[in-house]
Amino acid sequence: MTNIELLRALVKIDSTSGLENENEIILFLKDFLKPYASKIKLLGTKRKNILAFFGDLKSKNILVLNGHLDVVEADKLEWHYNPFDLTINGNFAYGRGVGDMKGGIVSTLFAIIKAKQNGLLKDKLIIFAGSCDEENGANSKFGTSVVVDYFLKNNIKPQGCIIPEPNGMQREPKINIGSRGLLWIRAESIGQKMHSGLIKEEDNAIMNMMEFLNELKKKFTNQPKKDFKGIPGSSARITMINGGGSVFNVVPNHSVCQIDLRVSPNDKNNQIIKFVQRLAIKHGVKIEIIKNTPSACIKRSEKVLTKTISCLEAMGKRYEVGYSSPSNDSHFFIDAKIPTIVALGVEAENVHANDENILIDSLRKSEEMIYEVIKEW
Ligand SMILES: [Zn+2]
Repeated sequence: MTNIELLRALVKIDSTSGLENENEIILFLKDFLKPYASKIKLLGTKRKNILAFFGDLKSKNILVLNGHLDVVEADKLEWHYNPFDLTINGNFAYGRGVGDMKGGIVSTLFAIIKAKQNGLLKDKLIIFAGSCDEENGANSKFGTSVVVDYFLKNNIKPQGCIIPEPNGMQREPKINIGSRGLLWIRAESIGQKMHSGLIKEEDNAIMNMMEFLNELKKKFTNQPKKDFKGIPGSSARITMINGGGSVFNVVPNHSVCQIDLRVSPNDKNNQIIKFVQRLAIKHGVKIEIIKNTPSACIKRSEKVLTKTISCLEAMGKRYEVGYSSPSNDSHFFIDAKIPTIVALGVEAENVHANDENILIDSLRKSEEMIYEVIKEW
């Protein structure tokens, strides 16, 4: 089977997240990997994850390669191609998930199988962890968190993990060593309606909200600052504000706003929530936490990063070390003290959009990079 054939087979299985049908793809991979794996384990009750162990099961020299098998939904009517039937057009392959991230999974599996066939896995253990339910905000109780729990309970201590999420096209490959956390906060201010011409103190919902927001902005400057370690600071952006009526002469009694707060790996979500809560009480504003994802970041000295960099440099590849958005599963591993990078994926376009596609040749490139890291691990 070629890499394109495997990709075609994976794309054909509609593993749209939330339909709870990722299991079909897990069972497919179980059969596909059986001839090569030292052991295969399915985790989870209703929604499954797959762990495939390659090489020496007793080795403490462990590298995890993780990828999610679910995809975001595709509206067939809006696509130029059938999203669940891989289409080749010139140098590009189209289909839902080709980039995010079935392509990265194909390169990972081909790299592992090749390393196994070339006898490179005698002194190490490579674990492929294919998980479900990532696309619902990378905060799933059924997906990677189940994988990490299994590692903890079974005393499996990988020294590193790579998640080959896709890179953009025509960009230097990015190695993400962490992500800022995310807090989505909805704030609501209740005031007292009155005629705005009255000589009387006002309880103006919009003014209360503005004072709250002004103080919040003082703490989280508009531009995220970078500290001396190159870690971006926390930032708060107001993304929506609503309030008042349509007439000139009524003091409004209601105002709502949305705040997108990105949390630096130097800060903790809980501390920030406490701070925002204190501020809200002071200004008579009620807050509701809509989304809460912790930040995560690894040290620059971790083996998974230094090995990857030395492999890329030996291959003459340019790269950039940075931070990703909080929407991937790396924080689960990092929280469990498994140093994780998001890197070495395929080059993709229109991820999460119509006509998602990859540069076909990037499948091979991604495979070569992953193979080198496995070899040097
Ligand atoms: Zn993804």
